[in-house]
Amino acid sequence: STTPVNVTVTGAAGQIGYALLFRIASGQLLGPDTPVKLRLLEIPQGVKAAVGIAMELDDCAFGLLAGIDIFDNPTDGFDGANVALLVGARPRTAGMERSDLLTANGGIFAPQGAAINAGAADDIRVLVVGNPANTNALVAAAHAPDVPAERFSAMTRLDHNRALHQLAKKAGADLSDVRRLTIWGNHSATQYPDIFHAEIAGRPAVEVVADQDWLESDFIPTVAKRGAAIIDARGASSAASAANAAIDHVHSWVNGTPEGDWTSAAIVSDGSYGVPAGLISSFPVTSTGGHWQIVPDLEIDAFSRDRIDASVAELIDERDAVSKLGLL
Ligand code: NDP
Repeated sequence: STTPVNVTVTGAAGQIGYALLFRIASGQLLGPDTPVKLRLLEIPQGVKAAVGIAMELDDCAFGLLAGIDIFDNPTDGFDGANVALLVGARPRTAGMERSDLLTANGGIFAPQGAAINAGAADDIRVLVVGNPANTNALVAAAHAPDVPAERFSAMTRLDHNRALHQLAKKAGADLSDVRRLTIWGNHSATQYPDIFHAEIAGRPAVEVVADQDWLESDFIPTVAKRGAAIIDARGASSAASAANAAIDHVHSWVNGTPEGDWTSAAIVSDGSYGVPAGLISSFPVTSTGGHWQIVPDLEIDAFSRDRIDASVAELIDERDAVSKLGLL
């Protein structure tokens, strides 16, 4: 039998954690042939609830689940981790300034980066889900100098999946016919969902849809504000779809993206597309052999350029703010 893969999940007792852990344990993260050991990391107040989730995981009798351990400190939580899903984060509460939010999250993601540096497995791959995800990933990576920066990523796959659905619906097409969509920039309201390279059943999406007004007044804001629309409707933030996107992200990273298509992920910039090197920004990406590559040489028109630049400007602001706070 194969050696189990150690998967660390932070914020394991939260609502995304609850939607995520059962899917990991059932084999949907890494595939049906890969046993997993779960390492649940929580803050001390969250440990009791994590114990309850572990009981439920036991009660699923998942054949691939080789063990569950629960921790309240990052040093133990990331020890030997091959995959780490950083879900737990400090939410913004009423009256909180942005610098308070960045400071609070720096206090979470800097020590987690250091613990990953100290004890994670050599092949560690990190996905940050907790917001502000791109900048939290930047902080964690900065505290893990011995881990290649390319092993840190932040999630824009939920935005990508939201955009896929909206575009397929508008075109009256099957989801499987939509390819080469891109989310650029920050996982925030400034993100830019780009259909200019997308195809629907092999035809340029902008020809199939041919509706600039829909693009600007409907598609882009609907994708960017979908999280708020779900809170409004459900009375709670998206959790199952966020967990689904985390599964998709890691699955693509480890198992590769399909020939002729790409996906979106926030990864460290090499300077491509005018995004300053070192920033963690969303790009069109493929994965082969367990490595992301930024899709090269796409033509970016003025409409897209403005929107990419605006989102990247926000990322630069966030980077400068955490840098000022001494977190980089
Ligand atoms: P959720 O599980 O709902 O969300 C966790 C994080 O995911 C939040 O930062 C949230 O951001 C983010 N997120 C990213 N994308 C999405 C999306 N599309 N929809 C919704 N959320 C998204 O939070 P809970 O409060 O239920 O649970 C958090 C858990 O984390 C708690 O159990 C807490 O104890 C734990 N925690 C653990 C830490 C640790 O292990 N060191 C540190 C801090 C907390 P946003 O807030 O912007 O919605």
